[in-house]
Amino acid sequence: MERLGKNRGIADLESPADSRKSLYSSFVWTDYKAQLQRRVKAEDLPKYFHLTESEKIGIQETIRLNVGTTPYYLSLSDPEDPNCPIRKMIVPRREESFFSPEETLDPLHEEDLSPVKGLTHMYPDRVLLFSNHECSVYCRHCMRGRKVSDSTERMETADLELCFDYIRNHPEISDVVISGGDPLNLSDSKIDWILENLEKISHVKICRLGTRNPVTLPMRITTDLCKIVESHNTDRLSIFCNTQFNHEKECTSEAKEAILKLLKAGVSVGNQCVILKGINDDEETMLRLHRKLLELRIRAYYMYDPELIPGSRGFRTPLAKGIQIIEYMRGKVAGMGIPQFVNDLPGGGGKVSLGPNWYLGFHKPSRNHVFRSAVRGTYHLSPEPVGSEYEEFYPEISEETWSKLLQNSYSAFKGLGPLGESGK
Ligand code: SF4
Repeated sequence: MERLGKNRGIADLESPADSRKSLYSSFVWTDYKAQLQRRVKAEDLPKYFHLTESEKIGIQETIRLNVGTTPYYLSLSDPEDPNCPIRKMIVPRREESFFSPEETLDPLHEEDLSPVKGLTHMYPDRVLLFSNHECSVYCRHCMRGRKVSDSTERMETADLELCFDYIRNHPEISDVVISGGDPLNLSDSKIDWILENLEKISHVKICRLGTRNPVTLPMRITTDLCKIVESHNTDRLSIFCNTQFNHEKECTSEAKEAILKLLKAGVSVGNQCVILKGINDDEETMLRLHRKLLELRIRAYYMYDPELIPGSRGFRTPLAKGIQIIEYMRGKVAGMGIPQFVNDLPGGGGKVSLGPNWYLGFHKPSRNHVFRSAVRGTYHLSPEPVGSEYEEFYPEISEETWSKLLQNSYSAFKGLGPLGESGK
């Protein structure tokens, strides 16, 4: 396979496997600062991968964020297989160089909803605090690629102080999501300072850390960091962590160790995956990921439909895929392992959840709701309570549909009428 010209000399000397061995043995693996110092950038990729033509074009012509990966995350990727899911999240491909007309830099209108630099106030009681622009790995699908990895988006101390002032002056804000960038790429002292400031604002009750470091740099979850987080996880402030595992290959023993440390610090951990074309957009892959996450003691939270960001055509999947995945998972893993499939509406409309149509509607004459079983595909009845004033609230089932259902149904409620009597 042909290599990039500017890297030909290096690539000819060592195979990707040998280059990786040299890299991994050149520092203390568990030292997170050394992992960040040895981060692999775009110009290094030909050393560590046999690149395809599409990847070479992607690296040269990407219109998205910079390339960067920790050696740890690199070690989860395959140097030879371009279909490796981890590799696809690290290495740009040709599709990233197209800016389609429906795509925008800021599809969620976060900037329009930003009263001060680095703060988005979309929902009345919650704000998003953009703490920093850096991450351990720059994920190719990142929805905040317009800011992340861009040093001009750096948040200075004075910027953060203005954010705290805004939160202080808005007593309706009880929940602060700290994201970026990755807040756990800040120094321990800066994290301590941010949490201390939030803890002092009496109406802020909840703080959510949005971090991918348990996935991309688990050694960052140090005992010292956990002590800091625990010291602010008090009666006054409850700290949660939302992370983003997208594939079971990411569920390593190092990741599990990091999660256990957070849990011991009293931090509940949830997962917000993104459904990504060719990476995890099939039922079995998502099921295996979420089973693994439960083993890591992580509860499922969201499965995001990818945003309409520039260069996203390589990642976006039809909406139906997400719905099919949720339908498939129901009954095969505990409910706490099934995420909500959400679309964060373009234009700043907020999140809506989407799911399979298990509720068919209300049959007025018999006063029964009709459901389709997610596990068996059979139809089941549940009566509306006697005296209910909500009968007009439900979508109505026609007599025609009702009689078709009678042919193939089973009632979980014995003696409830025709479906119960004709149950199979
Ligand atoms: S870690 Fe999060 S913020 Fe950073 S590049 Fe990945 S998705 Fe974007």
